[in-house]
Amino acid sequence: MIESFTVNTKTRIEMIDITSSVNKIVSSSGIKSGLCVVYVPHTTAAVTINENADRCVQHDMLNDLKRLIPLSGRYEHLEGNSDAHMKASLLGQSETIIVEKERLVLGTWQGIFFCEFDGGRTRKVCIKIMQD
Ligand code: ZN
Repeated sequence: MIESFTVNTKTRIEMIDITSSVNKIVSSSGIKSGLCVVYVPHTTAAVTINENADRCVQHDMLNDLKRLIPLSGRYEHLEGNSDAHMKASLLGQSETIIVEKERLVLGTWQGIFFCEFDGGRTRKVCIKIMQD
């Protein structure tokens, strides 16, 4: 079974911590041990795992992504959001996280982030949990 929830993004580029939303689905699944796949069904958004303690890390990541892949360039895609497509593919559309004792196995400083690259929009996050 696939669970899902929505994320409402406010700005064109942002990272939103979705760790607690994913953990809620994991703990209500009744699955004690297994794997959790977090999947974003979008072409201009991504999911990544990184530090959720110091917000400067997200700020630095987004700033350097903007520098590496600027909004305007020699792009052919008529929609005008080629940078968002590239940023999304660079970070990727899914993460797989180990589940143990009905919880995600994440490091002390790790969080799961929904990454918006062409917001604001209403986005979907899909969760699939597989038991051992
Ligand atoms: Zn496009």
